[in-house]
Amino acid sequence: MLARPLSLLALQMLGAFAGWWAGHWLGREHCAWWGGWFATMVWVVVDTVRARNVIDRLRAGRGLIHANPAQGSGPGGMWGDVLDRIVRCLRVQEQEIAECQSRLEHFLAAFQASPNGVVLLDVQQRIDWCNQRACVHFGLDAQRDIGQAISHLVRDPEFLTFLTDAHSGRELVMPARAQASQHPISLSVQAYPYAQGKWLLLSRDVTTDRRSQAMRREFLANVAHEIRTPLTVLSGFVETLQTLEPNKAERQRCLVWMEKQTLRMRHLVEDLLVLSSLEEQSVPTTRTRNDVRSLLDQVVADAHALSAGMGEEGKEAHQIDCIASAPVYLEGNTQELLSAMGNLVGNAVRYTPAGGSITVSAVLQDDGTLEFAVRDTGYGIAAEHIPRLTERFYRVDRGRSRSQGGTGLGLAIVAQIAHRHGATLGIDSTVGKGSTFKLVFPANLVYRGQDFHRSYNV
Ligand code: ADP
Repeated sequence: MLARPLSLLALQMLGAFAGWWAGHWLGREHCAWWGGWFATMVWVVVDTVRARNVIDRLRAGRGLIHANPAQGSGPGGMWGDVLDRIVRCLRVQEQEIAECQSRLEHFLAAFQASPNGVVLLDVQQRIDWCNQRACVHFGLDAQRDIGQAISHLVRDPEFLTFLTDAHSGRELVMPARAQASQHPISLSVQAYPYAQGKWLLLSRDVTTDRRSQAMRREFLANVAHEIRTPLTVLSGFVETLQTLEPNKAERQRCLVWMEKQTLRMRHLVEDLLVLSSLEEQSVPTTRTRNDVRSLLDQVVADAHALSAGMGEEGKEAHQIDCIASAPVYLEGNTQELLSAMGNLVGNAVRYTPAGGSITVSAVLQDDGTLEFAVRDTGYGIAAEHIPRLTERFYRVDRGRSRSQGGTGLGLAIVAQIAHRHGATLGIDSTVGKGSTFKLVFPANLVYRGQDFHRSYNV
């Protein structure tokens, strides 16, 4: 800082000396003062030019930061230092702003990637920012609606009450406004205060949660109902046996009924346990290559036994045929495959009146898949029931299913097993004519006889 007054002083002295020297030669007085005055003026002019130069450069704004320092000469002197320091400060600031900007962009990108809707509201609950998911949930436009009060855009009365009551921290469940899919979407909305009066609005798609809660409730109600019915019958018979004094024949009849009801409950519990163990793991833990012929033999033997139980004097009530293509092996869990095939064959026997026929087949298709099919000439199923048959406890005819000892879980088990083996379940049926249930196993699980032996010899 001393350089500035010293340079002025030095120039003044130089001017005064030059004035004195000139006055000495010209024989004039006061020239030293004029010389000093002139030198001061020169200094002021140069200084002003330098200041002007600094102001001009500052006018360039941010361009000043990026200007090449080698371009054009600097103002020099103290003004040069001032300019240098300003430029350095601006560069530091610029770097900080760039870092903040990139951090902000990362935050916004993270909010965009969120599976939840995010809306930032100002103190007046006007939209500051929202992500794409929130646009879908609330029917907003991320560009057009910025600065708009959200209460003007989302008009559901429940949402408006929720907004006025946002401080309570409660959760609102409401339908989404813009439907991304054809199914209605349920949203869970919550509001959190931040930065003195601003609001963070979060929305989450809870459709699946709510649907599975409803399904769980319905499932429990069904289980309770299924167990209550045989229990009521059982307790009725127990009461009869206790209060009345039935003769031997009546007593025997009661015991037969009681056995039927206990059997029904046992089947129900067994089916429930099978279903829950199937749902525990998405793929079977043990897989082996099964001889399809032997699988067919086992399920068809069970079908013969079941049919014999339905006929008179132990005679089979149905004509049961079995068709199998050349030796084929199917990779999968033996117990599960037997359970799925057995369920379909069992249903065919139970839902075909005596005298009807049933054909069980396992045929290798041209594309390498294996089609296991059960055809019957039974009661058949009306088209509107077919899509719901694999739902738990869904029955076409409740009375008929119960009288046949059905639990309503058989086809749900078949569908689970098919899914675990990558197979598809197809149902074709005509009322009064009969039904065909097919399981098509993918080619990668199917081995022809010779392929099977070749792969086992390796
Ligand atoms: P259930 O234990 O009642 O047989 P399922 O899940 O195995 O339960 O079958 C569901 C319903 O589908 C049955 O109640 C029955 O009404 C119908 N159904 C299944 N298989 C057949 C079939 N082969 N013919 C006619 N109806 C059938």
